[in-house]
Amino acid sequence: MNFKELRVSTPLLNALEDLEIVYPTPIQEKTYRRITAGSDLVGIAQTGTGKTFAYLLPILNELEYSKQQHPRILIIVPTRELVLQVKEEAEKLSRYKNVRIKEVFGGTNINTQKEYIYDGGADIIIGTPGRLFDIAVTGILKLNKIKKVVIDEVDETLSLGFRPQIEQLLEMMPQKKQNLMFSATLSDEVDYFINKYFFDPIKIEIDNNITPTEKIDQQAFNIPNFNTKIEFLKHILINNDDLIKNLIFVSTKKQADYLFEKLNPELGSVIGVIHSNKSQNYRFNTIKNFQKGSIKTIIATDVVAKGLDFNDISHVISLTVPDNPLDYIHRIGRTGRADKNGSSILMVSPYEANYYQEILKIVGANIKENEIPDTVKVSKILMEDEKPSESQKNYLKTSDLKNSGGAFHAKSKKRQKINSGGLKKKSKKKKN
Ligand code: AMP
Repeated sequence: MNFKELRVSTPLLNALEDLEIVYPTPIQEKTYRRITAGSDLVGIAQTGTGKTFAYLLPILNELEYSKQQHPRILIIVPTRELVLQVKEEAEKLSRYKNVRIKEVFGGTNINTQKEYIYDGGADIIIGTPGRLFDIAVTGILKLNKIKKVVIDEVDETLSLGFRPQIEQLLEMMPQKKQNLMFSATLSDEVDYFINKYFFDPIKIEIDNNITPTEKIDQQAFNIPNFNTKIEFLKHILINNDDLIKNLIFVSTKKQADYLFEKLNPELGSVIGVIHSNKSQNYRFNTIKNFQKGSIKTIIATDVVAKGLDFNDISHVISLTVPDNPLDYIHRIGRTGRADKNGSSILMVSPYEANYYQEILKIVGANIKENEIPDTVKVSKILMEDEKPSESQKNYLKTSDLKNSGGAFHAKSKKRQKINSGGLKKKSKKKKN
């Protein structure tokens, strides 16, 4: 299922294309039609599942141009950070639509905010419950035209003690409206809201267990640069016969294409690449061949992989360290599912050491740190983004990159260290 099949309109499809987003995530696929059909809905999903777009897409899709002063959509979230994040996402999606999106939150001057939301009116208001209520009681913001309300991260909002404000806000809105709620967990308090204010809601639950399981063998390798990572990748793909069904992650489309080009002469027939610039047909066939087994390895970016559900991945190989540690958790969560074991290989360059440290904070001692075998050729060719800037050149010679494993091992003295290349060797050399 893609966004077009879900009947997402052209302005939003264009915005999604700009964001390089091609596949809906499970929560988006499951809720989109139900939300556009007007049902009350409760989505049980954590951050990272794509829950924000799950409600923003259908809401923006249905929202018609209006000059009305008071908002038709209210989105209630627990914190200022989330207000800003949801606003940013809504603006990205509505790039090709004429929508007035405004935000309010506590801790800032209320009068400035009152003026801000009153001037020119608003279609969508995103806010924290306390500040929304404080403005609504003044009459500057009227909620009697609200057609849809979203209460996002409701469990968090309630645990912050905002129950009275949410109830008061709900009382100010018309009874006849669409109620949407998203929560990471269900509790008695959440249930109370659903029973009191929702009309026969549909419940959609997404299992997104982001705690990596013990069944995933996690290894990290200290590798000086992207081209050496490719050499190591070639080495393991050719020499290790337990790499049966592999998902390779890179951060950008450019890296994906470059990697494919480099692997193509030796491994092209068993490798595919998917990202948003590849045609729908090409992506479809690549995924089909991967599931069938005629392609053993797929190269993907985090964005494109988010909406893809693969079975039985044996190895997740990260050629780049994601800047958000949760992306790493999502990457490795593709393997070690059901009753299967899985392996993750993370390749870390010195300039990615900070991102790596963030990952260690989450998974800690579960990562085994290794060095690549001596037989892997160390490349001196640097990618554009690996080259030191003019000002750095005086301090950093490219040869230093090769030996600068300091940051990699900075916090890892206590961690297990195996100096073998760490992977099961293939009995015979693979013929190409
Ligand atoms: P959320 O779960 O709403 O916090 O979303 C987490 C991240 O996923 C955000 O950065 C979104 O931009 C991104 N995202 C949302 N939907 C998709 C999708 N279908 N494919 C790829 N990324 C997505």
